[in-house]
Amino acid sequence: MAQGQIRKQAKFIRYHRTICASIKTIKIYCANCHALLYKYYKAQEGHLVKCYQENIKEDYTRGDLKCPNCSVSFAREKMIHGKPANKIIQGKVYVRH
Ligand SMILES: [Zn+2]
Repeated sequence: MAQGQIRKQAKFIRYHRTICASIKTIKIYCANCHALLYKYYKAQEGHLVKCYQENIKEDYTRGDLKCPNCSVSFAREKMIHGKPANKIIQGKVYVRH
């Protein structure tokens, strides 16, 4: 990983810790073939309905919102609260903490 990217990520984590002490990293998997899709910073408890693109910690996909392994579409790109987000198609993914 590039040095600038690490600094950016560290800054991002510090920023989020100030606004939310309970931020967690979750792993998002394809429900069809169990491939790992994202590591994601999730601030709130509860069901995953969307991923803000800026909160994706590690992206294991090709960036086309399809599983890199079985090519199932698992999300749709959408602006939510003025930020680009991937709206999860229900039943296509599952989450592990
Ligand atoms: Zn898959």
